[in-house]
Amino acid sequence: MTTTAIQTECAESQETRILPLLNPRTRARRDVSKRIDNIPLLYAEMEGEELDRRITAARETLGDRVIVLGHHYQRDEIIRYADYRGDSYKLAQIAAARKEAEYILFCGVHFMAESADILSGAHQKVILPNPAAGCSMADMANIAEVEECWEILTGMLGDDAGIIPVTYINSAANLKAFCGEHGGVVCTSSNAPKIVDWAFKQGKRVLFFPDEHLGRNTALHYGVPSEQMVVYDPKNPLDFDDAEEQIEHSRIILWKGYCSTHMRFSVEQIAKARVDYPGINVIVHPECRHEVVEAADYYGSTEYIIQQIEQAPAGSQWAVGTEINLVHRIAQAHPDKFIFCLDPIVCPCSTMYRIHPAYLAWVLEAMVDGEVLNQVSVDDETAYWARVALERMLTLSA
Ligand code: SF4
Repeated sequence: MTTTAIQTECAESQETRILPLLNPRTRARRDVSKRIDNIPLLYAEMEGEELDRRITAARETLGDRVIVLGHHYQRDEIIRYADYRGDSYKLAQIAAARKEAEYILFCGVHFMAESADILSGAHQKVILPNPAAGCSMADMANIAEVEECWEILTGMLGDDAGIIPVTYINSAANLKAFCGEHGGVVCTSSNAPKIVDWAFKQGKRVLFFPDEHLGRNTALHYGVPSEQMVVYDPKNPLDFDDAEEQIEHSRIILWKGYCSTHMRFSVEQIAKARVDYPGINVIVHPECRHEVVEAADYYGSTEYIIQQIEQAPAGSQWAVGTEINLVHRIAQAHPDKFIFCLDPIVCPCSTMYRIHPAYLAWVLEAMVDGEVLNQVSVDDETAYWARVALERMLTLSA
C-alpha cells in the first residue's frame, strides 16, 4: 500500500508554482508590479524546468563559494539542491563548521538562518531565500514578553529565584541572547533532555520558551512531576499573580507556545492506526502534546525518527507524527517498510513551504552577479550573547 492510498494532501501542498499561492489581492497587483511577494515576476512565473536549469547553472558558476543547507521539512524540489540536510541542530553544527564557504544559502526558516549567521564567520553571508519564511511557534515569544515574564518571576521569587532560562532553538536571536546573558542556554529537540538536565543542575527552576510541549515532555522525561510545572501565558501575564504558591514550588515554567504542524496529531489518530494496522509502530515528535507522546511507542527529534525507521527491519510498519515532507521522504527511502503520516489530511509546515525553487533561482543568479539578496544578519551585541547560549549548547551536547 502506498501513502497516497490512505491520505489526502491539502491543496497547498500540491501547488508547484508561486503564483497560485498568492492571495487574490496580491494577484490583482501583478499586472501593475514587476515584483510579487518579495520576488520579481520573472521568477514567480517561471516553470520548473527553467528554474532547475538556472539554479544548476548558477551553482556551477559559484562552485564552493556557496553551500546550500536544507531542513528536513523542506519540499523535495528544494532538498534536491541541498549539500547538507538535517534538523535545526545538525544544520547549526554545519554552519559553525563550514567556514570556507562565502555564502550559506539556508533553506529553512528565519530563526535557523539567524543561528547560522551567529555561528558562522564574519566573512560569511547567510541568505534566507524568502525572507517571509518564519516559524509560527518562534513568533509566539518576543523579547518584551520574555522580559516581562522575567520581571514578574524575579519580583515574586526575589534574589534567590535561581531561574535558568532555556530557549528552544525555534526562537528569535534576541531571545537566545537573553538566555546567554542570564546564564541560560539554547536547546533543540535532539538535545533537549541533556540541556534541561544541565539547566536543572545550575539552578532551582527552568523558564522554558517558546514551546510548552517540548518543555513538558522533556521535564517529564527528567522526572519532574506535573504539579511542579506552571504554564505562563504571555497574553494573560496577570493570571500569574494568583499562582504565587505554585510558582514557588515549581521546577519548570512553561511558555504557552506551540507548533501548529505538530498540534495536528492526536491520540485518536494513534488509536485508529493501531486498529487499522495491528502491531504498527507509532513514532512522534516531542513538539506534540504529552498525551500523544504518551500514546506513541517512540518519540524524538526528526533525526531520531529517521534513524529509528532506518534501523527497523524490512516489513515493519510505521505511523509517524511529524511534518509531511519528511514522512514522504522517509517512505520513499524505505520502500521495504510501510510508512505513513498519522494525520489523514496532511499539510506541510506552511512557513517552511515559503521556500520555493523560484527564490533559489533568484538569489543564486543575483550572487553570480555579485549582489547579495535576502541576507540575514544579526547585530553584534545580540550575536555576542546569542553565541554564548548557542555555543554552550554545542559544548554540552558534544
Ligand atoms: S514545523 Fe512547527 S516549529 Fe517547525 S518551522 Fe514549522 S511551525 Fe515552526
